[in-house]
Amino acid sequence: MNFQALVKPAVLTQPVYEPGKPIETVARELGLDPAGIIKLASNENAFGPSPRAVAAANLALGEGELYPDGGCFALREKLAQVRGLAPDQFIIGNGSNEIIELLGHALIGAGDEVVMGSPAFVVYKLVTLVFGGKAVEVPLVNHRHDLPAIRAAITPRTKLVYVCSPNNPTGTANTEEELLTFARSLPEHVVAVFDEAYAEYIPQAPDLRPLLREGRNVICLRTFSKIYGLASLRIGYGYAAAETIALLNRVRQPFNVNAIAQAAAVAALDDIEFTTRCRDANLAGLRQLEAGFRKLGLEYVPSVANFLVVRVGDGARVFDALQRRGVIVRPLKPYAMPEWLRVTVGTPQQNDRLLAELARYRDNP
Ligand SMILES: *Cc1c(COP(=O)(O)O)cnc(C)c1O
Repeated sequence: MNFQALVKPAVLTQPVYEPGKPIETVARELGLDPAGIIKLASNENAFGPSPRAVAAANLALGEGELYPDGGCFALREKLAQVRGLAPDQFIIGNGSNEIIELLGHALIGAGDEVVMGSPAFVVYKLVTLVFGGKAVEVPLVNHRHDLPAIRAAITPRTKLVYVCSPNNPTGTANTEEELLTFARSLPEHVVAVFDEAYAEYIPQAPDLRPLLREGRNVICLRTFSKIYGLASLRIGYGYAAAETIALLNRVRQPFNVNAIAQAAAVAALDDIEFTTRCRDANLAGLRQLEAGFRKLGLEYVPSVANFLVVRVGDGARVFDALQRRGVIVRPLKPYAMPEWLRVTVGTPQQNDRLLAELARYRDNP
């Protein structure tokens, strides 16, 4: 058998995504008690899932023998109500990651260019490459998307442009005015994708819906993995013009989103008490970590998301040391920031633990 000789060439050169390791894996590999490990590596919600979502998910499980509603009717109705758009302006994905992949299916062919910030969410690049496209990476300036430079990188071959705001991994955001001006400056042959995975953490998030009313080629992505605390259920959505959504629907699997996730997402959208509490606790957690980093003399980038990057020197080494002490964070070498770690905002106790372990490392590297 020689499978390798048979796969498409792009598969052989495809980079491999390295996810944050689950707590159980780290416990097993290092011989630690999982109960003593905290994971601040994947921007998960430290306050758990929305309780209303959990109740709805449990109910939905009772009808587990039925296929889900492939059209996600109830969720799109709910989103339309909450976001002030029409139900046919939403597409639901198996995480918003799936919608990034659907955009690849629909738009990226061999040699097409996809423009993105660097470092930004690595999935944009992975999906571009797997479809034979060319990733055009535009360096951030002061850890923020440089929208004029991104605009300047657009050529007649550009199909898609990704803007991640707040950006993963840097936690920085562009203003509403910057984003609107950028989108309005784009030529008609380019589709702009605005990844708003962390928008709910911003008290006054940019509103890009005017771009849809203006008929621009724009799609915005959101997720239930972060502030709603449903990362394990894999559900996210895109909103755009109804025509855009209809075409993306042609390239998705009929039952791409399971019924448990759909029910949980509908309930999560109603759980304002939970999301408000998470947003407030996150803002407090950011301040707590920033103060702690300042005390330790560590440089950090002010963030508006539920994570932030901190400069620790040898990122791989500090990552290792922290992990051996039961604190999992994210080393940023894959994002070309080898001196930095990305840490998720945890509960007050988890944040204290992280800061204490960083202090221990400083005193005894
Ligand atoms: C976490 C994250 C997502 C969400 O991915 P899901 O597939 O919905 O879990 C999307 N974009 C960015 C930038 C993220 O950090």
